[in-house]
Amino acid sequence: MIVRFSRQVLVEWIGKRGQKRLGEKSCLIIGCGALGASSATILVRAGIGDLRIVDRDIVEISDLSRNMLFDETDVTKIMPKPLAAKKKLERINSEVNIESFEDDVNSGNIEKYARGVDIILDGTDNLETRFLINDLSLAEKIPYVFGACVSSQGMVMNIIPGKSPCLRCFIEEVPQYGSLATCETAGILPSIPIVVGAIQANEAIKILINNKRVEKRLIFIDIERNEFSKLRVDRKERCPACRGEYEYLMKRKGTDATILCGRETVQISPVKKMHISLGELAKRLALRGEIVVGKHLIKFAPNKKNEIIFFRDGRALIKGTGDKKFARSLYSKYIGN
Ligand SMILES: [Zn+2]
Repeated sequence: MIVRFSRQVLVEWIGKRGQKRLGEKSCLIIGCGALGASSATILVRAGIGDLRIVDRDIVEISDLSRNMLFDETDVTKIMPKPLAAKKKLERINSEVNIESFEDDVNSGNIEKYARGVDIILDGTDNLETRFLINDLSLAEKIPYVFGACVSSQGMVMNIIPGKSPCLRCFIEEVPQYGSLATCETAGILPSIPIVVGAIQANEAIKILINNKRVEKRLIFIDIERNEFSKLRVDRKERCPACRGEYEYLMKRKGTDATILCGRETVQISPVKKMHISLGELAKRLALRGEIVVGKHLIKFAPNKKNEIIFFRDGRALIKGTGDKKFARSLYSKYIGN
């Protein structure tokens, strides 16, 4: 232990005590894309005790431009992301107890995955799951390090239940469906998830070992302009989550996935109906695949196998699959929720 962490314990605020404490802590990372992979790598190298990783995707060639955990072998072998991550991380530090789960985190299973962990890190790609994590964090009093990035920008915010404002004090609602930039529509640079994931992991270490400089503000990073700023977020009087109304955990908000019988189609529908601007959505999707815009719907083919039909009320039919996890991931890729 001493040799492996000899440089890290020299840092005054870590020391041997902090190192020992970190080795007794457990962390859940939800999502193992570039962001989750970056924070996982740091936490495992730094010597966290237990790490749990959940993700619904498989490793694809387009992940390799920015995901530091995966390589071409993982793509050839069609490896699930969490399992590929576990195998790689165990080669980095075999003393960490790593568990991996191939699953779509939702209101029905998040409590199971978060049971007993000391902190939750955000590696997701959509606000709906983030609001769900935020609800669970407040309900179970587990600190949550929010992190997000798109294009050349990123954000990090610590949510410490009972002490700090929460994510919904900062972002009240999921913006109109289809209006949010996603990595599929606005792209992403290889460096930004590494920067954001590194800051998340560092904040997590500070929280876990009770460092007094745990960041209280929201950190904003733009690596095109090299801007690094901090914004104060205030607790909102009307924030439902802070008032104990866990709308995402209780499933009064968010989406449901249903397999349509015998049709190789999954329907994704928002629990509460909403309105999406088909024109706006069509503009965003135009460069991403074949698209047909109708009066009441958009037909969009992101690849040769699948077709997605988007309706105004936020509903979508994902054709060419009977896999809910896969359908949800396509939906959030293009809708940004
Ligand atoms: Zn709040």
